[in-house]
Amino acid sequence: MTAEPIGTRGLVHREPLLRDISVEGRRGLDLPGGEVAPVDPAEVFPDWALRRAPAGLPEVSEPDVVRHFTRLSQWNYSIDSGMYPLGSCTMKYNPRVNETVARLPGFTGLHPRTPDHLAQGALALMYDLERYLAEITGLDRVTLQPAAGAHGELCGVLMMRAWHVKEHGCPRSKVIVPESAHGTNPASCAIAGYSVVSVKNGPDGIVEPEQVAERMDDDVAGFMVTCPNTLGLFERHIGEIAEIVHAAGGLVYMDGANLNAILGATRPGDLGVDVMHLNLHKTFSTPHGGGGPGSGPVAVRANLAPYLPIPVVVKEGDRYRLDDDLPGTIGKMRSFYGNFAMLVRAYAYIRSLGPEGLKRVAEIAVLNANYLKERLKAHYHLPFDRPCMHELVLTDKFQQAAGVKTLDIAKRLIDYGFHPPTVYFPLVVHGALMIEPTESESKATLDQFVEAMVRIAEECVASPEVLKEAPTKPVRRRLDETRAARRLVLK
Ligand SMILES: *Cc1c(COP(=O)(O)O)cnc(C)c1O
Repeated sequence: MTAEPIGTRGLVHREPLLRDISVEGRRGLDLPGGEVAPVDPAEVFPDWALRRAPAGLPEVSEPDVVRHFTRLSQWNYSIDSGMYPLGSCTMKYNPRVNETVARLPGFTGLHPRTPDHLAQGALALMYDLERYLAEITGLDRVTLQPAAGAHGELCGVLMMRAWHVKEHGCPRSKVIVPESAHGTNPASCAIAGYSVVSVKNGPDGIVEPEQVAERMDDDVAGFMVTCPNTLGLFERHIGEIAEIVHAAGGLVYMDGANLNAILGATRPGDLGVDVMHLNLHKTFSTPHGGGGPGSGPVAVRANLAPYLPIPVVVKEGDRYRLDDDLPGTIGKMRSFYGNFAMLVRAYAYIRSLGPEGLKRVAEIAVLNANYLKERLKAHYHLPFDRPCMHELVLTDKFQQAAGVKTLDIAKRLIDYGFHPPTVYFPLVVHGALMIEPTESESKATLDQFVEAMVRIAEECVASPEVLKEAPTKPVRRRLDETRAARRLVLK
């Protein structure tokens, strides 16, 4: 099978604005004649709010509008149009059944202020989802409120802080964060008022217990670790590190945004983790990209439960209610209950796969990443040659002699019809290409991706100038990213 360029899909160079095709008097919609006497706007609205001149809206027919927006949508790349190997993002396919369930009118029509006795179904779903996530993580309680992974981190670190204040009379001042942590980890610690003590990864890409022990003292609130780390490697010593941290009165936070790799295979709670977040919009298959909405539930061990955000869902007999009476709570992290429709999607995903299905997700995600690693390592430099988890990190080291950089490789992939992987991250690897295939791609698609990558590696030798020009197929060619950042034009 060959990797074909996306071709004509992206080749529509016409880009008229609706305004340009506007024809005076053209209509896409006929409003029925009113039976109600028209209201004089001047009687209803204050003078300053009244429009003095026509709005100048485009006058277009229904086909004009449909074609315009369909064309725009085809310029976009999405998981529905092809493989999306963006590392650290888990752009997996979102089963349509989740969407159907999230659109049930009983859920979409529910007002957040509906009294508990009329919202029993929604509360039962939240209650059960909390139990499922607790079971999956091996922890005791879960808050579903945070609206993103980073938001969950802040929530979790604030709970750690509250626990220290209660246990030790002070929050302590430092958190140990490995260099291979996701960038949001040190940021969340800083926002919660902690200073960050950095720890380097060992030669095989993972944190060594001795390094943590050296930095651990009675002013360290905890150890915050991304696992699997941003090199796509499992932190093998996490259990031993947890013992060191606990012995000095600290807590272990695990960034579990990428639970995809370990789902059903191991449970962070069993490894000594006290608090962690998970990204429903990655592992639990709710659509993401383009800025949200997301959902970053936080799971905690029982000793941190008194500090959960309010309200929590409680079950009494066969009835559910929201409870605000939690004296130690860190307060509210978000209005109402978080992004509820995301919770519905995650619930549907977990129920439709079941325990065996979830385990299979992790197995295939890891297998797919290792398959790509083995097939690509002859063509691209692999900095850590050991079994990876759900993603692999390559670099542009072999291509540098031809003057080709990571960015050029990523841009050329667009011409071959693939979304580029994550580039220049993790920061600890120079010229990184971070590839996460996810479990939703078939072997045939993975082989197409490999073929595209191999052809690009060959082009680096034969015609590196082609890569400098890329992408040439889509409507938008290579952007001047510096200029775009400095002179932002949003319309
Ligand atoms: C995506 C990700 C985050 C941040 O999640 P957001 O929902 O984007 O805030 C944090 N840590 C890791 C490891 C991630 O992959």
